[in-house]
Order: sequence, then C-alpha cells, then structure tokens
Amino acid sequence: MNIPESPLPRIVIVGAGFAGLKLARRLVGSKYQVVLIDKNNYHQFQPLFYQVAMAGLEPSTISFPLRRILRSDAKVFIRIAEVHSVNPERNELNTDIGSLKYDYLILATGAKTSFFGNKNIEDMVLTLKSLSESLLVRNTILDHYETALTESDHEKKQGYVDIVIIGGGPSGVELAGSLAEMKRYILPKDYNELNPKEVDIYLIEANNHLLPSMSKKSSQRAERYLQKMGVLVMKNNRVTNVDADFVYLQDGSRIMSKNVIWTAGLEGAVIPGIPREDLVKANRIRVDRYQQTPSYKNVFVVGDLAYMEEPDYPNGHPQVAQVAIQQAKNLAYNFKRLHQPGYVWRPFSYRDLGTLATIGRNKAVAEFKWVTVHGFIAWVLWLFVHLFQLLGVRNKLFVFINWVANYLSYDQALRFIIKPKKDKRSELKKSKA
Ligand SMILES: Cc1cc2nc3c(=O)[nH]c(=O)nc-3n(C[C@H](O)[C@H](O)[C@H](O)COP(=O)(O)OP(=O)(O)OC[C@H]3O[C@@H](n4cnc5c(N)ncnc54)[C@H](O)[C@@H]3O)c2cc1C
Repeated sequence: MNIPESPLPRIVIVGAGFAGLKLARRLVGSKYQVVLIDKNNYHQFQPLFYQVAMAGLEPSTISFPLRRILRSDAKVFIRIAEVHSVNPERNELNTDIGSLKYDYLILATGAKTSFFGNKNIEDMVLTLKSLSESLLVRNTILDHYETALTESDHEKKQGYVDIVIIGGGPSGVELAGSLAEMKRYILPKDYNELNPKEVDIYLIEANNHLLPSMSKKSSQRAERYLQKMGVLVMKNNRVTNVDADFVYLQDGSRIMSKNVIWTAGLEGAVIPGIPREDLVKANRIRVDRYQQTPSYKNVFVVGDLAYMEEPDYPNGHPQVAQVAIQQAKNLAYNFKRLHQPGYVWRPFSYRDLGTLATIGRNKAVAEFKWVTVHGFIAWVLWLFVHLFQLLGVRNKLFVFINWVANYLSYDQALRFIIKPKKDKRSELKKSKA
C-alpha cells in the first residue's frame, strides 16, 4: 500500500461516508498518521440518490472527490481499495491492493441492502444504495418507457411502464412521490404516446404504516399525500418473490412489472474477521458508548454499522446521517485528547435534530422534539437541511439551481440513458486469469 512508517500512532479508517469522512477531517492536524480507505474515490450523498434515479440531479452534484477534501495534511493518506478482511489479533487489514498494519482501526463501512436471505429477489430487483445503482434505476425506467412505445400488446406494455417499489421507509416514500410527479408532469410531454392513466406506481409495505421511524400522524399524512398523487399504497402485504415479469405478494396476488425497486431492508456491511459474538441484529457491530468493540479495544465502529445502546435509545440509534456525523465528531474529540494525562473518555450521546421526509413538491413531513410540521414549511425545511449537509459550495450551488429550475419548469432535464461501455481489456485479463 506504500504508506510510510511513522513514529506517530496510525489510525486506519475504513469507509469515507458521513462517519469516516467526518472523522478523517476532524483528525487533520492531529498527532496521528491517518489512513482513509474507501472503494470509491469520492464521498456520496445518499439522501439524494433517489433524485439521481429520477433524472432530477446529475451524479456529480451529490458526490465529492476525497482527495479534494483532505489535501491539506501530509499525515493523512487516502487509498482507494476494497477491504476484504481484518485480522484483529495481528492488527492487520487485507485489501485488494495489499495489507496494512494499524494501531487503531475505525470501521465506518455503513450498511448494505438486505434481502433477508431471498436470493431470487436479490437477482431480480433494482436497489438504491450507491450512485451506480441509482443510475441503473434511471437507465432501466427510461429504457423500459422507450420499449413500451414499440410494444403493441397492451398487457406486455403494462409490464414495461408499471413500477413497483418495495419498502415504505423514507427512501421508498420519496421515490414513489418523485415517480408520481414524473408521471404527472413529464410523461405527457416526453412520452405523449403513452397514456399516463395506464402507468401505475405501487408502494408495498409489510407493516401497517409507512415511515416506521416517524409518528402515526406523519405516516398517515405521507400516505394521504401519496394517494392523492396517484400512488397505489399497499400495506400489510409482503413480497414473496419476484421474477422477470411479476411481483408475487403474500395475499396470493401478483403485479406485472419489469421495474421493481427494493428499498425494504438494510444490514451492516461487516468486514470478515470481526468476531461473531460482537455482531447483533441485522449484522451491526456492538459498541460501547465510546464506539469501542467488546472484543478489541483498539477497534472502533461508527455510523450505520455501529450498534450502541444508550438510555434514550435502548434498541440502538436510527441509521441516519446525523448519528454517523455526531459519533465521528465525538470519537475525534476523544482521540485528540487521548494522550493528555488522566484524560477520561467522553461517552457518546445522540442529539436528535429532527426527522424529515419529502413526498413531492410542497409536500413533506418533519418532526422535531417539540413540534411536527407538514406541507410547504416542512418541504422548504427539507430542502435547506439537505442543501446544508451537501459537501462543497459548487455542489450546493448546482443542486440549488437545479431545484429552482425544476420547480419553475415542472421538468427535469436529465433524462439521458447513458450506459457504461465495457472495458474489453479488463474482460480479457479476467478470462486469461
Ligand atoms: C437512498 C437513501 C436515502 C437516505 N436518506 C437519508 C436522509 O434523508 N436522511 C438521513 O439522515 N439519512 C438518510 N439515509 C441514511 C444515511 O445515508 C446513512 O445513515 C449514512 O450514509 C451512514 O453513514 P456511514 O458513514 O455510516 O456509511 P455510508 O455513508 O454508507 O459510508 C460507507 C462507506 O464505506 C465504503 N465501504 C463499504 N464497504 C467497504 C469496503 N469493504 N472497503 C472499502 N470501502 C468500503 C463505502 O464505499 C462508503 O463510502 C439514506 C440512505 C439511503 C441509502
């Protein structure tokens, strides 16, 4: 990996998401050698993935190059690599570009999509957990609209235009609302040969309410918004299987669709080598109030991957950006003071700044400690909170301009189907290997 030896203790951070990146930035100028490893050379802003999928934003406006953020400190090293395993007994990480020793290891690899063991579903659905997956959603839906135009068989046409979203959490709700707006404002203009009335958008949720992390009132409000926008919300129903043409439901019914998007589950993106006894539900790693794992005192976990109980959160924290950011800040605070004689570590306490979900133009729900708001006010709040959290002035500006333009024109100008060209050289290398 070619990281120089140093007399300073080495902190290796795996993952440059909200938690890992915040931690690395806070450790700039500290008395550590910091190595930040991520499989991508950019940070991605996941809350806006659905807008990339719906052709509302370009991927470059919600991602940020890691080297640009961390170029001010010669003691901070970035390596683009996939970490394959960790050997905590030897304090060593194994990656696709070699191995690396650490003094302290911080795991910030976040969460990945969980299919609850259903391989059939995994192979057939689209997901929304990375920029490339968001682009695949965009390409697939636009591609299928194009195919629908050439299809004369009515039933087959339905399969190309109808969309099924599985999972009624914030991602599913935001996506459904966005699709409903696309159906209303874009379809009649771009695809005037298709009848918008025949384009159905289904949102399927296994529980009896949407947005499980919010109150019943907000959940009902979001459902009413979606229904008004023409989304077919199906609650208390579970998807049992998906094949190339149909989505099969627990109640025995089936929906014909080739556009099936899964937003129903998450599990920790655990790196092999972490003891099984440190894992809890949904493959998150148990940590104490200082982010330390039970088995190894020099291994820490932050963000979505961490499972920490505190009095106000006896079942762990929600897997949201604010938890990741606040945990990273607290850990950096402790590391910076670690060498002060008699320093006592500061335990982490989550400060809930509120929960927001947007459904569409002028429609959102927002909950804060003392007050719940909805409609236009919540929607404006949602816009500003997300703009504020985005990295980089350029990104903030571009996203803001895009939003204003979309709002005024009722249109999104990015409906391109850009398919990556296959690299023949790497295919050749693979086949020779
Ligand atoms: C579609 C969607 C919408 C969301 N909307 C919201 C929202 O509106 N508000 C909100 O607060 N939260 C939202 N979230 C949740 C929020 O994005 C997460 O809570 C947050 O990203 C967690 O931060 P993290 O640093 O723990 O992990 P992540 O941000 O997921 O970062 C993990 C990093 O680790 C890297 N990585 C993973 N495995 C490896 C490996 N083996 N080797 C090298 N690198 C690796 C990844 O490339 C990634 O950069 C949303 C999530 C999704 C998917």
